[in-house]
Amino acid sequence: MTIKSPSPVRPASTAPPVTAPCAHRRLLDQGLGTLPDDDPALAGLLDAEARYQQENLAMVAYASLAHPSVLAAAGSALSNVTAEGYPGARYHPGSRWFDQVERLATDRAAALFGARYANVQPHSCSSANLSVLFTLMRPGDTLLGLHLDAGGHLTHGAPASVTGRCFHAVHYGLGPDGRVDLEQVADLARRHRPKVIVAGASAYPRTWDYAAFRAVADEVDAYLLADISHIAGLVAAGAHPSPVDVAHVTTTSTYKQLAGPRGGLILLGAAADTAPGAAGRTPLAERIQRGVFPRTQGTPDAAAIAAKARALALAAQPRFTTLAHRIKANARALADALSARGHRLVSGGTDNHMVLLDLSGGTVTGAAAEEALQDCGILANRNRVPGDTRPPLVTSGLRLGTNILAQRGMGPSEMAVCAELVDTVVRGLRARSGGGHRLEPAVRDRVRAAVRELCDRFPVPLYPAVR
Ligand SMILES: *Cc1c(COP(=O)(O)O)cnc(C)c1O
Repeated sequence: MTIKSPSPVRPASTAPPVTAPCAHRRLLDQGLGTLPDDDPALAGLLDAEARYQQENLAMVAYASLAHPSVLAAAGSALSNVTAEGYPGARYHPGSRWFDQVERLATDRAAALFGARYANVQPHSCSSANLSVLFTLMRPGDTLLGLHLDAGGHLTHGAPASVTGRCFHAVHYGLGPDGRVDLEQVADLARRHRPKVIVAGASAYPRTWDYAAFRAVADEVDAYLLADISHIAGLVAAGAHPSPVDVAHVTTTSTYKQLAGPRGGLILLGAAADTAPGAAGRTPLAERIQRGVFPRTQGTPDAAAIAAKARALALAAQPRFTTLAHRIKANARALADALSARGHRLVSGGTDNHMVLLDLSGGTVTGAAAEEALQDCGILANRNRVPGDTRPPLVTSGLRLGTNILAQRGMGPSEMAVCAELVDTVVRGLRARSGGGHRLEPAVRDRVRAAVRELCDRFPVPLYPAVR
């Protein structure tokens, strides 16, 4: 089989036709109209979830709320399209419209991030990372990434991941200041000569110095992979430096800060063809393209790609840039307010959307805090902190994020209220002997009422109001 070269980024593609009266809408109406009668059990659960998202305060770092038009695109008839391959080079018939949708998504991804090549097919960022790593490395090659306990991701070579099984994984950590220790990165790179160095994290509140990583990569002839899964919105909006032209490859999820569907993206910028051993080789874009399909994935999810196209268009609007800056300002305000209340934070603060509360040395565990907060209507997840001695399901930290708080229209002054609520819950647990998992009912009810009040005052835009 042959795969055509990746198509270069075109300017604006031709507008896809809109059939009247809107067939897509009638199809969705049909489904929405019959579901409650045909399957009340499922319809009730879907309804409860929409309500839950409106009534609870998601102070999480790993999600955003998708615009209803993104959800509508994800529910389109494209779900029925099976089409291995890429636009213009499919292995199945019937992708006339899907080809245009995929080109639209690809063009929008490339334009949003200033990339020369984008691949919108990865089913997730994990899948994107596997595709990239299995393109750039052979089993047994060395991979250097941030340690899971220091905030790295499973796919950066953790033993529980296929990346830790197939590759020889070496990990860097954080310095005593809670920041990436670049000296250690350079030292490990010189000693272990990795084929790929990964710059990126799931739980790291500070700015990445991609140029410094690239200098290390160049010194040891390694590829630099930037994984911006958590910070893609900040990068797209210019609120965090972009790795796209610095790293050889950049990967991201589409559902975290990009507020899109489940899925991933791979981006290549100016550095792609200066990669180690690139001279005289197949262009990296082509190798990556084959690395996704057929090497690590089968058919693309056409409906998810439509939803990515929609989310990427929304992310290109000026209001998204405003939102990204508000997310950052909120995180700083939240960090300041928590510090002022005597809480320890990993690295002492934040540069992005994330605040990592360090509960180590105390009686309250990350798991207990997560559970008690959830009981009050606040979502925040347990998270390991550097040097954590508690097991991964317990942990000594709490990861907070401001994506959804900012989407709801909250600003820095509401972050003081959010910090007060988290503080009340953590203190309430501390006051129980042995740091039990349950709050005094009176404390719980007080926090619950305050959460309800905040959620009512700052409803999720365009999501149904619940009364
Ligand atoms: C969340 C995350 C991933 C995995 O993303 P999925 O789309 O959920 O597979 C990969 N890398 C980092 C740094 C992440 O935070």
